Amino acid sequence: MELSAKIYIAGHRGMVGSAIERRLRAANYQNLVTRTSQELDLRDQAAVADFFATERPEYVFLAAAHVGGIYANSTYPSDFLYDNLMIQANILQQSYVHHVQKLLFLGSSCIYPRLASQPLREEYLLTGSLEQTNEPYAIAKIAGVKQCQAYRRQHGCSFISAIPTNIYGPHDNYHAQNSHVLPALLRKFHEARMNESPTVEVWGTGTPRREFLHVDDLADACLHLMLRYDGSEPINVGTGEDISIADLARLIQRITGYRGKLRFNALMPDGTPRKILDVSKLASMGWRASIALDKGLASVYALAEWESEPQSM
Ligand code: GDP
Repeated sequence: MELSAKIYIAGHRGMVGSAIERRLRAANYQNLVTRTSQELDLRDQAAVADFFATERPEYVFLAAAHVGGIYANSTYPSDFLYDNLMIQANILQQSYVHHVQKLLFLGSSCIYPRLASQPLREEYLLTGSLEQTNEPYAIAKIAGVKQCQAYRRQHGCSFISAIPTNIYGPHDNYHAQNSHVLPALLRKFHEARMNESPTVEVWGTGTPRREFLHVDDLADACLHLMLRYDGSEPINVGTGEDISIADLARLIQRITGYRGKLRFNALMPDGTPRKILDVSKLASMGWRASIALDKGLASVYALAEWESEPQSM
């Protein structure tokens, strides 16, 4: 990928897309193409076809998606399916039609079977039933991985997929109901400290375990894969380390300086019991994560974006 190559970052306003844009700019890529969702509705087939015909990108990072936490997934299942299927179908088809040299699609660790053995290896995909709370989103993302493989097999397209673990970082979604656990807890603990509330509610039992990757690490891995990997098998991107929700809550409590108590609300769903990726494939390609969770959390907390940014899904 030459520094002058025309690179389209789909979803550059999102947490992942904006990190990829920062990473590419830092590496001196000069010909980046972006569109906001107001300028280009990626669910609109004709609009996406027009965009590709006009811009003719040579490389595509497909980081546009409709995402959300456990509550949003169970409340808006048809939106998660429709939006994600349409975005992917349009971008992949147009990337094929217009001879994009390489495309990276971003999946999600929730596409693995709920009860697969851990850590999750790439070949466990489609070997069992999915976690119910985010099945529609997972089905859409599995379709995306399969679409990449199908275009590669039928047309020889260099479409690759990465499967990131839970991501956090700048421009996260801090919505009180619809966000993922890490931003939700950062905000809850911060507000509880400011308001001197005696307790903070943590959903579920606190026993599920999750792995968290800073989005700058993910962006770095995406560039690494774009430059060095060209295969049909999706590649896991994570830290290889996980933490229980209860321990995460205590870590966030410490970082925010909150002195009250934690209250676990077991009426809220736990979701999948454990989700940690086997990252040996990516490690064998010479990449590993470099931002430790406590440091990453502290830097994100210093931004306190929820105090200034409008809330969006
Ligand atoms: P998941 O990784 O797809 O299950 O999605 P989440 O990030 O939304 O939730 C991960 C785990 O954190 C689940 O067990 C939740 O019940 C738990 N959790 C604890 N407190 C919260 C909270 O305030 N918000 C969210 N979204 N999850 C929470």
